Order: sequence, then C-alpha cells, then structure tokens
Amino acid sequence: MSIPTVALPSGERVPALGLGTWMMAERGADRAAEIAALRTGLDLGMTLVDTAEMYGDGEAEKLVGEAIAGRRDEVFLVSKVLPWNASRSGTIAACERSLRRLGTDRLDLYLLHWRDDEPLEETLAAFGALAAAGKIRHWGVSNFDVSDMEELFALPGGAAAATDQVLYNLSTRGIEFDLGPLCAARGIPVMAYSPVDQGRLLRNKALRDIAEGIGAAPAELALAWLLAKGAIVIPKAGRADHARQNRKAAELGLDEATLAALDRAFPPPRSASPLEMI
Ligand code: NAP
Repeated sequence: MSIPTVALPSGERVPALGLGTWMMAERGADRAAEIAALRTGLDLGMTLVDTAEMYGDGEAEKLVGEAIAGRRDEVFLVSKVLPWNASRSGTIAACERSLRRLGTDRLDLYLLHWRDDEPLEETLAAFGALAAAGKIRHWGVSNFDVSDMEELFALPGGAAAATDQVLYNLSTRGIEFDLGPLCAARGIPVMAYSPVDQGRLLRNKALRDIAEGIGAAPAELALAWLLAKGAIVIPKAGRADHARQNRKAAELGLDEATLAALDRAFPPPRSASPLEMI
C-alpha cells in the first residue's frame, strides 16, 4: 500500500509519513545504522525527510546528504533556518550552507525553526528571494502559535506558508483547541514533530494496552492516530527495524472504539493553552 498524502496550500501532495533526523549524527558509532534506517524509510515510501541546520550543528544535514545521495529526486527535503540566522541576508547564507551539506541544489521546504527577534518581514523576503532563485520550492514556519500565525497571515505573502511544524502527539494535544483549526481553515497542514514524544509515549501503559488490544505496536498506534488527524508525521528512527514498524502505521485503520479509548486515555484540550515546544 502506498503512503497517504497530504496537500500543501499549493495543491502539491506530500507523504503524510516521513522521517525525522534530530539526534542523528551525534555518535559516530551509530552513523551506519542511521543511514541504513533513513534508506529503509525511503525504500518504504517515507520520502519526506525533515532536518535542520541546528541538528548536530550541521552534521545531521551531512548525514542526510549521504543517505539520499543518488536518489535526491525521490525525496521531499525539509530543512530549517535558526532564528539567529533569519535576517534577510543571513537566511540566504544559511540556506546555501544547508544545500552544500545536503549535497543538493534545492530544498523542497524551508522552515523558520522558531521565532525570535528577527522581524518576520526580513525572513519572508529571504524566502521569496530563495524561491525566485530556485533554491527552495516552498517555505513555512515551526513552533508558531496562534498569534504568530495571525501576524504572519497579515504580512504580504504570509498566507503562502506551506506548514507550521509543531509539537503534536497523543500526550500533547493543545493545538487541537485553536492552532490546528486555524491552520485547517487556511488549508495549511500541521507537521507533527516528536510524534512519539521522543520515545516516552511508547512506555505509556494506557497506550500499550490499547495497542495490544488491536494487535499493533505502540508506535504504530501513536503514529496512525496522528495520520487520522490529518497531520504530516515525522518520527525519527535511528534503527531500520523502527523505521519498518513506523511504516506500518500507514496501514493501521483506527475504528471508532479505538479512537474513543485514546480520547479517554489522552483527553483532548478543553481550553486554550500556549503552544508547547521541545
Ligand atoms: P520522536 O520521533 O517522537 O521520537 C524519536 C525516538 O523514538 C527515538 O529515540 C527513536 O529511537 C524512538 N522510536 C522511533 N520509532 C520507534 C519505534 N517504532 N519503536 C520504538 N522506538 C521508536 O522524537 P523527535 O526526534 O524529537 O521528533 C521527530 C522529528 O521531528 C525530529 O527528528 C526532527 O526532525 C523534528 N523535530 C522538530 C522540532 C522543531 O522544533 N521543529 C523539534 C523536535 C523534533 P531510535 O532512534 O533508536 O530508532
């Protein structure tokens, strides 16, 4: 079965299940396994790869470059600029460094990693220049809360953001109250980071019990739930067997009883709360 897809505001469809890379390239001893895990994920159709200049101080981008060498065209490649590089000229220079490390001439999606002091207009101007030069195909944001998104939408061209990449998993559902509906109303898909809460969720007894009841692994269930919510989901797997297990989430249909059991164990938000970040 092929991976489900999610439409960006441009209409282009991207795989709903991809591959995260934070914490990769941190230990030389894990390098071969990490590259093998990424290639396994690509072989299985999880061809959206999320990285950032921050990860391993550029080393994760180099590792991704190695993993996708010779198969760049299969991949929807996402990277991010750090807020302190996000001036007009700084964003362009950061993107060019990322392209060199990744061994490619273009990013499919370039995100502002989180908001800091740089005026958004400056970063948007850089995204526009990079797109005009063919160095990025889409741009978006990360860790933007409701007020940040509203500010963005008010800027010329701001409504063209392709995604808001945010912390979203069963144990962190705050965005369902306001940010998620706001993005949905604009046709902007949310990209769910830390979808298994960096592994913590997989030790949760309620999740484990519900997963056992339907004959699925906890990771499969946690990821399938996010897919059912319409998110783009980017679990990080440094091991090929984890990548294979995560891929199964795309085939795990969840019935009403399972969704209700998950809502009882991980209640949806009943009021607004500030966006959480890792
Ligand atoms: P995550 O994907 O929720 O969890 C990763 C951890 O879960 C790793 O320890 C991994 O182990 C383990 N794991 C994955 N699949 C598993 C499975 N099937 N069974 C058992 N364990 C499994 O956390 P994350 O890395 O923080 O988030 C995912 C990606 O989102 C990141 O890699 C990054 O690309 C992005 N992200 C973005 C931001 C942002 O600010 N924009 C913040 C955080 C993350 P192994 O490595 O041993 O396989």
